This record gives sequence, C-alpha cells and structure tokens, in this order.
Amino acid sequence: MAKTIQAIRGMNDCLPTQSPLWQKVEGKVKQVINAYGYSEIRMPIIEMTHLFSRAIGEVTDVVEKEMYTFEDRNGDSLTLRPEGTAGCVRAGIQNGLLYNQEQRLWYMGPMFRHERPQKGRYRQFHQCGVEVFGLDGPDIDAELIMMTARIWRELGIAQYVRLELNSIGSPEARAEYRTALIAFLEQHESVLDEDSKRRMYTNPLRVLDTKNPEIQAILGDAPKLSEYLDNDSRVHFAGLCELLDAVGIEYTVNERLVRGLDYYNRTVFEWVTESLGAQGTVCGGGRYDGLVEQMGGKATSAVGFAMGLERLVLMVEALELTDDVARQVDVYIVTAGEGTLPAGVTLAESVRESLPTLRVMNHFGGGNFKKQFKRADKVGASVALVLGEDEMAQQMVVFKDLNGGTQETVLQSDVIEKLAYFFK
Ligand code: ATP
Ligand code: MG
Repeated sequence: MAKTIQAIRGMNDCLPTQSPLWQKVEGKVKQVINAYGYSEIRMPIIEMTHLFSRAIGEVTDVVEKEMYTFEDRNGDSLTLRPEGTAGCVRAGIQNGLLYNQEQRLWYMGPMFRHERPQKGRYRQFHQCGVEVFGLDGPDIDAELIMMTARIWRELGIAQYVRLELNSIGSPEARAEYRTALIAFLEQHESVLDEDSKRRMYTNPLRVLDTKNPEIQAILGDAPKLSEYLDNDSRVHFAGLCELLDAVGIEYTVNERLVRGLDYYNRTVFEWVTESLGAQGTVCGGGRYDGLVEQMGGKATSAVGFAMGLERLVLMVEALELTDDVARQVDVYIVTAGEGTLPAGVTLAESVRESLPTLRVMNHFGGGNFKKQFKRADKVGASVALVLGEDEMAQQMVVFKDLNGGTQETVLQSDVIEKLAYFFK
C-alpha cells in the first residue's frame, strides 16, 4: 500500500463533526458585525512580501520569524498573509476606497504564521478582522469595542473574557518614551534575554510585551508610557474611557499593553481569557492612523481589530454551549418498496422548494426500515417522512415525530403545512 500523505503540521482539517460549531461561531460573528452596518471585503491570501515587512514592521515576531515566504516562478518574493490589516490597507489604497471617504469593513479567512503549534496556536488559523477608515474620534474606537463585547455575549462567552486597554500615544510621544525606556533597559541588561537584548535598540517597546517572567518583574520599575503621552492622545483616551463607562463596558488599563505590530498609535486593546492556557488573547486591535500614508496613500485615520476564530471555537466548545449545533438534518425521507424512491426524492424537492430553511435528507443505499431510522437518528433528524408502496398508491405519507415517537398518516399535499407548523 502506498504511504499516506499527512497535512502540514499546524494546519488542520475542519471535519464534518466540527463544521457546525464553526458555522455557528462564524454566523454569529457576521450577524453582529452586520448589525453595525459594516461591509465585507475579501483580499487575496498571498501578497508581495514587502507589503507585510513594511506594514507590520521589520522588528516584530511576525516578520522576523513567522512568515511563510517563498519565491514564485518569476522570482518574486511572495508571502502567505500572516494578518489582514496590511492587505486591507493595500486594497483600500489601490481601489481608491480610502481618500476622503469613510469605510467600515470586515473580512474573515485563513492567516498563516510559522509558529510552534499548540492548543490555540496553529500555522494556518482563521481571523475575523474589522477595519474602519476615515474616522478619528474615540467614538469609533468605542463602537469597535462594543461590537466585540456583543459578539462575546452572542457566543455565550462574555463572562470568560476581559478587556485590557491602553493608549500608546503619538509617534513623537513614543519616541521620547523610547529614549527613556532604552536608558532603563541598559541598566538592567544582565536580566534581558536574547530577544530583548536584540530589540532593546531596534524596538524597545516590544520588550514590554515579553512573556519572560524575570524581565516582567523588573519592568514594574520601568518608566511609564502614560507619563509621556501627548495631550491629544490623552484627551482621546479619556473620551474613549468615558464612552465605555457610559455603555457599561468594564476594562482595566494595562500600561504595558503595546501590541505586537508596529503600526499602532493611541488606542490599543486586547480581550483576554484565562480559559485557554498560554494562548490568552482572543482579540486584539487598536488605532493605526499612520499606516495608510506609510503605505503610500493619503493620510487617513484608521482603527481595527482581529479575533482568532480557533480560540473562540475552543471556548464555545469547552463551555458545552454546543447542544443546538449537533443536529445536521431536520427531515429524513425513508422509502421502501417498488417505485417509492423517485416519489421520496420528489417529495424532498417539494419540501426544499416550499420550506428552504429546513434541512432535508433522502435515505439512499437501500436497507430495511430499521436501518433507515438508524441513519435518521444518527444525523439528528426530528421528523421522518416514510413512504411505502401503500402510502404512495394513496398519495399519503407517514409523518413520524422522531423525538416524541408519535406518527400519523397524512396526505402528501398536507405535508408542507404540517412541517411548517412542526418546525415553527
Ligand atoms: P499571540 O500573542 O497569542 O501570539 P498575537 O498578538 O500574535 O497573539 P494578533 O496578531 O494580534 O495576535 O492576532 C489577533 C488574534 O489572532 C490573536 O488575538 C489570536 O486570537 C489570533 N491568533 C494569532 N496568532 C494565532 C495563531 N498562530 N493561531 C491561532 N490564533 C492566532
Ligand atoms: Mg503571535
């Protein structure tokens, strides 16, 4: 026998047993975003490599060590997208969506990062991202946070996530802070690990983001970014906090929250959870007012977030909030006897025609009633419509309630009305 071929490590199949849960999570996320009037944008999965290195920043985990980069047959360096913001900004500029306009956009799809696979961390994973262009007030930052809070409520996970918030100010304020932070880090160089030492001069703010507990311990005494904030950023942040207070969204201000990518300014936020072990962040975002101009467009304010769908699916699954997604089929058509199969297929088609939201499955492959009802059970059907030769001859069908166990013989012409009433 030939050797079987395995999927790439960290890249998972979504099996038929898992897809109902995925559809539920994706469906609820889309429904909430829709309720705020946002529009979908779809970008390619592959872009020019320098799009990401320029947008995300050379000295970031993603660009330094996580990108899937390869040369295509023309010798161009291409990269599988590790996140969606860079491509969204590229698409916005290229298609003239951003200049002097307001855009509220969302996307959903696979992202690729070469990381060590573990629970909640994969090499192909899925994000839903939201990006807003052309609005510079704290009101829109608050709306994005409200939108995410509503998503958690819809998914039933609101009590297991909490919001961390910070302002990282203007690029100028950060430059001043940077100098102070480097001076502090130089005094503690002996404690720093390789990554932090390397970043100390290129991207010292990223040291604040470290997961190394020894470094975290000394950072308690580090100069605080909040003391260096420019006045406009302070006012913006106060405005955001006021709005969140007004709508009753709780948050903690985490002074060390800086986010992993270079393009952020002012507002940054993360939704974190304790229920996923080390992979604690389910959603992260913030303002990136400088990125559009940096990517060659006209200066445009922008704010957005991205959530990791695997982590949401894991949380929903762990909470066993999945009862209502196990059922795959509503109506199962059972047939037995000469000429009943075409009649059953026709009946199923007429049900789909009249009641398009019902999921109707025909039994194929023959077998006695017992075998057919077993299948009906396996797919979670609530009703079986049973057609034998006698029923067929009389234009009748047996309507069987598979949960209640009752059954009655009804006219085929009445079956739509009966199903509509049953599934009301
Ligand atoms: P982390 O600190 O967990 O590495 P990150 O800061 O790299 O996250 P972002 O770039 O902000 O993550 O991406 C937004 C969200 O996408 C994360 O909060 C997380 O839910 C999800 N995510 C990021 N990387 C992965 C991955 N490798 N596998 C699964 N989900 C991921
Ligand atoms: Mg990461």
